[in-house]
Amino acid sequence: MNTELISQLKTLLKDDLLDASTLAERDCGIHPNNLKADWLARPNNTAQLQALVRLCYEHKIPMVPQGGRTGLSGGATSSVGQLIVSLERMNHILEINPLSRTAIVEAGVTLEALDQALAPHNLCLGLDLGARGSATLGGLVATNAGGNEAFRNGTMRERTLGLEVVLANGDCLSELKKVRKSNEGFNLERQFIGSEGCLGIITAVSVECCELPKFRHTALVGCANFRKALNCLSDIRSKTALIAAEVLCDGQARLALEDLTNGKTLAPRGEVLLLIEVSGASSEDAQLSLESALEPLLEQEIISDAWIAQNEQERALYWRIREDWAVDRRFPGGLWYDVSIPLEHIQNYIDGLKTQLKQIDSQLKLFIVGHLADGNLHLTVNTNEPIHERYEEISIIVSSGLKACGGSFSAEHGIGLEKKKTLARESSPIKLDFMRRLKSFWDPHHLLNPGKII
Ligand SMILES: Cc1cc2nc3c(=O)[nH]c(=O)nc-3n(C[C@H](O)[C@H](O)[C@H](O)COP(=O)(O)OP(=O)(O)OC[C@H]3O[C@@H](n4cnc5c(N)ncnc54)[C@H](O)[C@@H]3O)c2cc1C
Repeated sequence: MNTELISQLKTLLKDDLLDASTLAERDCGIHPNNLKADWLARPNNTAQLQALVRLCYEHKIPMVPQGGRTGLSGGATSSVGQLIVSLERMNHILEINPLSRTAIVEAGVTLEALDQALAPHNLCLGLDLGARGSATLGGLVATNAGGNEAFRNGTMRERTLGLEVVLANGDCLSELKKVRKSNEGFNLERQFIGSEGCLGIITAVSVECCELPKFRHTALVGCANFRKALNCLSDIRSKTALIAAEVLCDGQARLALEDLTNGKTLAPRGEVLLLIEVSGASSEDAQLSLESALEPLLEQEIISDAWIAQNEQERALYWRIREDWAVDRRFPGGLWYDVSIPLEHIQNYIDGLKTQLKQIDSQLKLFIVGHLADGNLHLTVNTNEPIHERYEEISIIVSSGLKACGGSFSAEHGIGLEKKKTLARESSPIKLDFMRRLKSFWDPHHLLNPGKII
């Protein structure tokens, strides 16, 4: 960036223009290259953000929008010569409407902060994920995040009623609707959902909220294989108010249990561990519905074990087991994939994947964790040594067959940098052509998060 632009940005932002030496002291988040740019701007309102985007547009400076830097596909990475635009100071909850069950927030509000503000109204966003303390509403929209509750409340696309977005030239598209029904010609703002900062900078989000489940009961359930786990899921779903159905393969569960409980508390048998959570009108009601759903499943040997959390401490432990990163601690440098598969194809997909991985290299290990009711599985493929350079080779195997069965090679973490080649390989030329044209339409000089997605 030239000195003239830096001085204009300093006049605009004062202490909220951070240089490389300050950035070096900051937490870069999930990806080591998130803070590689030499400048970071922290505007505190939409007008200030528009002014800075206009300056960058004039000087043709690339910008990388950032929220909580929890993204898992490298979408927030930056490099020298780019300006990071952090939404961290735009973190105000603008309104909560208990009657219409809506909220409007600035893009830098974290998921946890929004849920804490909604809780006194018996409301929540209805979307939850492990990075809740840092992930921002802007980032959740930009990646169209999914998480634990998508099977019943949809992804961020379904939670979003309206957006305010600053465009590449500094104009502001403000469509902060608070209603679900709005057919006012071509819908523009929804194009920014899942656009990973490549089409515009989201400054505010209007969301539809959900009733906060007051009473929950949680169980860990062991199953011999995915087929039985899916039978269990289907049965429980039809008999209870199911609010979570998370899954871990035995290897992942074992490592988490070793680290969190010294392997003593639970010893599941079988290939799959399910975390099931149901809600009820009272604590007793939730417990009864969970127990009476699990009992026949044990008798019919659809499930092989069941542990029901007896208190909040145990429930928290079960969730920690699900959200723990034991696999990455034990085998750093593994490869992450994020697929979704129609439920009826899951067992075949996993059996086939295991066979193919074994065929190319008997040292490869496969770990699985995910949101079972959506068929969304996070796969980690690793060995005892880091294998970063094998991402594409294994991606071809992981993606094979997904399109044919109606699944997706990119379920909820986005494309970012990581899945660019997979997108190019798996998409039709028509789709890729329209994506490129859309990018050029919204951002003719390719200043917004250049090099990501396409
Ligand atoms: C422990 C853990 C668990 C997770 N679990 C899940 C899960 O279950 N489901 C799931 O979907 N994801 C999950 N994630 C991924 C992550 O939380 C999401 O991708 C999140 O939505 C990103 O939000 P962020 O604020 O951190 O965005 P960042 O990481 O800062 O940015 C992500 C992308 O969004 C863009 N962006 C950010 N803010 C804006 C904005 N205001 N305007 C335009 N573009 C913007 C960035 O340029 C980048 O491309 C998890 C991550 C972690 C670390």
